[in-house]
Amino acid sequence: MLRQALLMLARSHQVKDIVTRMPVSSGIVNRYVPGEHTDDAVRATHDLIDEGLHVTLDFLGEDTLDEAQAEYTVQAYLDLLEGLSHAGLARNAEVSVKLSAIGQALPDVGPKLATENGRRICQAARHAGTTVTLDMEDHTTTDLTLGTLRELRKDYPETGAVLQAYLHRTEQDCRALAYEGSRVRLCKGAYNEPEDVAWQDRHDVDKSYVRCLKVLMAGEGYPMVATHDPRLVKIASALATRNGRMPGTYEFQMLFGIRGDEQKRLASAGEKVRVYLPYGEEWYGYLMRRLAERPSNLTFFLRSLISQK
Ligand SMILES: Cc1cc2nc3c(=O)[nH]c(=O)nc-3n(C[C@H](O)[C@H](O)[C@H](O)COP(=O)(O)OP(=O)(O)OC[C@H]3O[C@@H](n4cnc5c(N)ncnc54)[C@H](O)[C@@H]3O)c2cc1C
Repeated sequence: MLRQALLMLARSHQVKDIVTRMPVSSGIVNRYVPGEHTDDAVRATHDLIDEGLHVTLDFLGEDTLDEAQAEYTVQAYLDLLEGLSHAGLARNAEVSVKLSAIGQALPDVGPKLATENGRRICQAARHAGTTVTLDMEDHTTTDLTLGTLRELRKDYPETGAVLQAYLHRTEQDCRALAYEGSRVRLCKGAYNEPEDVAWQDRHDVDKSYVRCLKVLMAGEGYPMVATHDPRLVKIASALATRNGRMPGTYEFQMLFGIRGDEQKRLASAGEKVRVYLPYGEEWYGYLMRRLAERPSNLTFFLRSLISQK
């Protein structure tokens, strides 16, 4: 209930105006987003790699209906990849891309433009010596995104996909993507989805997550286990062992600012751990999704809002 209320609140222009007037340096923002510029992102990546972690970077922005904005996002990724390469970080840091940020939602030309833009980012990533993972957005875009993934994988088979365990279709999608060389990030799912396509009860989502994990761990691909849920982390480790997988033939992924101690604990136990690091000026939607996942953050958030007025 609270989660849905927060996700609805996130769409209010008034709330958005107040929140986006907060500086990125305010505690509630920079807990989840280290900064707005390429330099901030490269610096934070450097620090995480120093701690034995891997990184995937997301230039924040989504649902672009403006071709110039899509181009701006592509340029930001090209700039970032060059920055990572110059800093010698590209071996341990890749990028995550939302297709709606690079044009997918534009009328008529959207999917074609997003695929072309995706190709440019994949090319730059390969040149830098790293990879791209396509984030997954709400269920109305799942088929389009998987279609773009298929196109990109023809030339860039290293391109990663994301599947969301809350969708009824995902176990089947896992089967289709569990082939050799296929990098698949499994997450629970962060959008407010209707019950005809997604499980609403968190126990059903968790059960689906485990069924999907079983398929990915038993398959030939490279599972990327994206969760902070301690039970699922344990189950993933057990399934990896049961399937004879060594660390490095799969990885754990967690978000920047969430369960940092657990990220370091897993890494020092020999697991490969990648931190999802978002940056950029468009941090509002991302921040609201993180707050909606964790209603106990609400008091802190409301206090920050009141002190802005
Ligand atoms: C690397 C990565 C990439 C992702 N990519 C996508 C994507 O492409 N598409 C998509 O729809 N979703 C994506 N997500 C988000 C994901 O779908 C979930 O919404 C999010 O990870 C929370 O689910 P959970 O598995 O951590 O489980 P939960 O049951 O939500 O959380 C488990 C525990 O983690 C801690 N925790 C979780 N969230 C927070 C928080 N915000 N603040 C503080 N503590 C918290 C708490 O201790 C909680 O009890 C991604 C997540 C990760 C980690």
